[in-house]
Amino acid sequence: MNPTEQELARNRLLEEIELDTRDTSHMTGREKLSDRVMAAMAKVPRHEFVLPEDLPLAYINRPRGIGHGQTISQPFVVALMTDLLDLTPEDRVLEIGTGSGYQAAVLAELAARIYSVEVIVELADTARERLRRLGYDHVEVRHVDGHGGWPEEAPFDAIIVTAAPPRLPEELVAQLAEGGRMVAPVGHRIMGQELRLYTKGPEGAIRSRGVLPVAFVPMVEKAAPRT
Ligand code: SAH
Repeated sequence: MNPTEQELARNRLLEEIELDTRDTSHMTGREKLSDRVMAAMAKVPRHEFVLPEDLPLAYINRPRGIGHGQTISQPFVVALMTDLLDLTPEDRVLEIGTGSGYQAAVLAELAARIYSVEVIVELADTARERLRRLGYDHVEVRHVDGHGGWPEEAPFDAIIVTAAPPRLPEELVAQLAEGGRMVAPVGHRIMGQELRLYTKGPEGAIRSRGVLPVAFVPMVEKAAPRT
């Protein structure tokens, strides 16, 4: 794709995100995503995050494979999840499931620091190198099981989980700041998953609501301890 084709493809993608947002607003409660989120979606070069053979399809509103049985999420879902976090430029954000690093880059356009963890070492290394090359210096990527979060940097103003756990891990709830927002796909692949939004109020009270049915890769369970 030449630069003009790329710009056209990106503009078309933004229009599709607007349409999907309107079509799902009865479930999500959001008629329109914020201008800041749409500007971030317009800015991040998604073609840098897909596999080379998928370059012509980088701006199609679909998830894509990124190797190791994992996927880069559908752009509309990335935009919606980001919007639900209501980020401010001072926020510190934890992401579970770095994958390609695309979601982390979108977050990095909107918040002060991003801490992202990935359980597959090759994906963590590739995403770290890619984000550095693209100038996202305020994103840190760690190769670790996301069930434990990132305790040294907690609490976080926002947490985004991009692989689906059957139940929300307690440790992540603990690492959310008071007034913080967390968005996560929760459930089983076959039984169905639901994107849920959690908010932590005074004294740690958690409120949550279902947002949208979704299909994410499962969050892998911690390896059983050796006996
Ligand atoms: N946010 C990514 C897409 C994530 S796909 C992007 O923008 O490209 C889900 C990712 O979660 C996969 O890379 C998968 O390896 C990772 N993952 C699954 N279980 C995990 C766990 N327990 N801890 C950390 N990462 C996990």
